[in-house]
Amino acid sequence: MAIIALYYYLTIYLAGIFCVESQYIDYNTTGRIVAGKVNVHLVPHSHDDVGWLKTVDQYYFGGNNSIRGACVQNVLDSVMSALFEDKNRKFIYVEMAFFQRWWRQQSEAMKAKVKELVNSGQLEFINGGMCMHDEATPHYIDLIDQTTLGHQFIKDEFGQLPRVGWQIDPFGHSSVQAYLLGAELGFDSLFFARIDYQDRAKRLKEKSLEVIWQGSKSLGSTSQIFTGIFPRHYDPPDGFTFEINDVSPPIQDDILLFDYNVQDRVNDFVAAALAQANVTRTNHVMWLMGTDFRYQYANSWFRQMDKFIHYVNKDGRVNALYSTPSIYTDAKYAADEQWPLKTEDFFPYADHPNAYWTGYFTSRPAFKGYVRMLSGYYLAARQLEFFKGRSTAGPNTKKLADALAIAQHHDAVSGTERQHVASDYALRLSIGYIEAEKLVASSLAFLAESGSSIRQENTVTNFQQCPLLNISYCPPSEAILSDKKSLVVVVYNPLGWKREEVIRIPVSSEKVVVQDSSGREIESQLLPISNTTFNMRNKYVKAYLGKFPHETPRYWLAFSASIPPLGFSTFMVSGARQTGPSSTISLVHTLEEVTNKTIEVGQGSLKLLYSSDEGKLTHYVNTRSLVTTAVEQSYGYYSGNDGTDKDPQASGAYVFRPNGTFPIKSENQVPLTFVRGPLLDEVRQQINPWISQITRIYKGKEHAEVEFTIGPIPVDDGIGKEITTQITTTMKTNNTFYTDSNGRDFIKRIRDFRTDWDLEVNQPVAGNYYPINLGIYMQDNSSELSVLVDCSVGGSSLVDGQIELMLHRRLLHDDSRGVGEVLNETVCFLNGCEGLTIQGKYFVRIDHLGEGAKWRRTVGQEIYSPVLLAFTEQDGSNWMNSHISTFSGIDPSYSLPDNVAVITLQELENGKVLLRLAHLYEIEEDKDYSVVASVELKKLFPNKKISKVTELSLSANQERADMEKKRLVWKVAGSTEERKVVRGGPVDPAKLAVELAPMEIRTFLIDFNYLQMFSS
Ligand SMILES: [Zn+2]
Repeated sequence: MAIIALYYYLTIYLAGIFCVESQYIDYNTTGRIVAGKVNVHLVPHSHDDVGWLKTVDQYYFGGNNSIRGACVQNVLDSVMSALFEDKNRKFIYVEMAFFQRWWRQQSEAMKAKVKELVNSGQLEFINGGMCMHDEATPHYIDLIDQTTLGHQFIKDEFGQLPRVGWQIDPFGHSSVQAYLLGAELGFDSLFFARIDYQDRAKRLKEKSLEVIWQGSKSLGSTSQIFTGIFPRHYDPPDGFTFEINDVSPPIQDDILLFDYNVQDRVNDFVAAALAQANVTRTNHVMWLMGTDFRYQYANSWFRQMDKFIHYVNKDGRVNALYSTPSIYTDAKYAADEQWPLKTEDFFPYADHPNAYWTGYFTSRPAFKGYVRMLSGYYLAARQLEFFKGRSTAGPNTKKLADALAIAQHHDAVSGTERQHVASDYALRLSIGYIEAEKLVASSLAFLAESGSSIRQENTVTNFQQCPLLNISYCPPSEAILSDKKSLVVVVYNPLGWKREEVIRIPVSSEKVVVQDSSGREIESQLLPISNTTFNMRNKYVKAYLGKFPHETPRYWLAFSASIPPLGFSTFMVSGARQTGPSSTISLVHTLEEVTNKTIEVGQGSLKLLYSSDEGKLTHYVNTRSLVTTAVEQSYGYYSGNDGTDKDPQASGAYVFRPNGTFPIKSENQVPLTFVRGPLLDEVRQQINPWISQITRIYKGKEHAEVEFTIGPIPVDDGIGKEITTQITTTMKTNNTFYTDSNGRDFIKRIRDFRTDWDLEVNQPVAGNYYPINLGIYMQDNSSELSVLVDCSVGGSSLVDGQIELMLHRRLLHDDSRGVGEVLNETVCFLNGCEGLTIQGKYFVRIDHLGEGAKWRRTVGQEIYSPVLLAFTEQDGSNWMNSHISTFSGIDPSYSLPDNVAVITLQELENGKVLLRLAHLYEIEEDKDYSVVASVELKKLFPNKKISKVTELSLSANQERADMEKKRLVWKVAGSTEERKVVRGGPVDPAKLAVELAPMEIRTFLIDFNYLQMFSS
């Protein structure tokens, strides 16, 4: 290289002597791929968080800049100008929530020019969901919905199909991302930055950062994707960042100025390129030219890249070009290389020996719960909108869809945003909910009144709903009832199969009677509302709604509801006459009042046994299946590390770094209370002043439901705490347990073990935590214990026979990963603020080995899609005569197979219907249900004539057949003969039956000959 350097110095020297004038340089930016050279793909990008330190809107318009100078509007404005200037320049854009905001403000002339940029490939949409979603804490249905929304926008406005998954920042990566939100979208590749530091070190050494990832056991090679992990992070190599205030030396190539540095900078470039080529297979490397909120003055980047491409290519040792991940992917594919196979997932993520990012699996549990609750509600609301018939004028689900979409961002549902940003997401969700609530009410009114004597142009029934039912706040059900004034309860079931549920609503009277749809009086039970619930109700209704509840209900009224698939049943609750039948008031007794050593709870097959001496659970007994297991349940906490020991790493919003484990002993101030009746038994425990729980055993169900109330977590001692619960058995589980991937596939976890490398264990607790969205289970040679959750949490099995869930966190130190705020959630009342109290549920069942899947899958779907309750008042008793009291949107003789769920049923703006069906089982998961299922579309849409069924990609932006034709077939190193993967066949247009193989999700666009369902 010395000769070349000498040549350059001579040039400068001679230029000086002969007074060559500084002049315009026409940079040659036309670089294209050159065979035989190391090709450096420069990918200009800006990572724009859809909310984090600032709200999504503040980031967009550049508000609140004292927190951070970030303005996405500047990014998009200046990038477009820079792209117009030189047609060789390229840029990728990822987050449609931002792009949509920008797009609607542009003139038609500007839109036309931007469309040209997109058509020519200068501007490429990558990923293309509304946000770059988190991969640990969202449910797969939310991931599909938010991606569909973004892809639809790109399709409608630009006619484009994103080809590449771009999950560069999320904190670990799920197998559902790889196969479902990757291959099933038709993506050719997936890229990201964050994997465990030990995993990365090994992959750098073995050149295995780029792999073929098979995320699904069931779908195997039919759903695999080329996956690239960046060697370091999603920013450029050191010395190549060019935002106006960045410190990298720009190329100074004006010979009349001092500090001329062209050759130095070319040398730097070549060195960085060769270093990366050394850890990368093939002669293509990708440089991520950008990072968070960059390109606010795009020219400062593009000017430097223009020069680098010009001078590096003149130098000739390596080749530089403007590129995109798609071009890079095609180059990798063309290289015809073999790639290592990757299975399972990339959880948990650690960037440092004491920094496992496993705290965020639980951070902001109330927000996680709210997101999950509205996710299920959104699914039901779209169904009801379809049954009523979409109207352009009335309320719709659009705002809720948008709010849910951005809530999936990797600093939203993950819980790693600042408090004011979390409040902003929650506000958006509640605005969306309120509109969807109106849609649901009007749809139910329409359906209840249809075909009835009172049917009019506009519905008259005013249905109310109770989003705060969990804390016993429900004004319509609390109203004083008489035999003249009854409460009408409509119970809607969003699942495709019939279900039986025990409905619980607060009532004020102790003499009530419940009638079913046919007017028959049915059994009902009154349970006194606990003091804990009252406290929550009084405080939180005030905090959330700004008003004190007027009525004070005395009881929970429980009754059994049988609800048809995709339909509703109606129940009438009235004041009972003095002499007539009435609800059974539960028997209530405390531990002190019993003399037996063992107390048996449960009216059906499931019995829980409690020791009266110790006041705790001792056994789980199922008298039908004859499963009997010794089991205990307890609470504990980790004290959050404050980062003052030799490693300054604290436990915070992202990172879980415990500094000691402490059991929470039941202080027994309040003895156990048993509440018993014909439908369910409850065991109420006040564990300590800030933890209480109610365990419910329903007569008709074979699982225990545990409702916990935790908070305010005391931190007066200056120690942050992370609250856990443990379910402990004597099962010999051999270090092994199973957790779900975004609520879908279960992945085998082995304590202190990783499939891909020899794990050096530094954090034996945090390093064994995994995200749980659906459930966690463990097995021994005779039985399996499963726990299902109602929203995402972190969990593990830290000792054999035990499952642990982290339910709440309150921490006093920031964990230095950027959020810059402590995770110390509070709620404010009139007289001050206190730590957030949360309430949630988990569900436990023990089965014989191999029999747990049925329960996990069926009840898992019921938990995701709870019944939707709507209330109205009725004078007199003629509701049932004048209204439709039971409804099913599908053929009355039909029900979906037990292994299939409808995960989308939505009428689109063009009147067509989007239908997604999901097989709920993996291969070999269940002997009866891990088989191909068939759904009869004619029976799913009984009153309509289907004229056309088109199968689409998962995000519904292209025909499935077209997508399959384009799919790249990669070579997998050491690939062995694979089991033949089964998938459902094409849909016969005459039979209209859809086959679904294990874990398959199929998406259809359905055209009807006529839409009016109730035209007769
Ligand atoms: Zn980010």
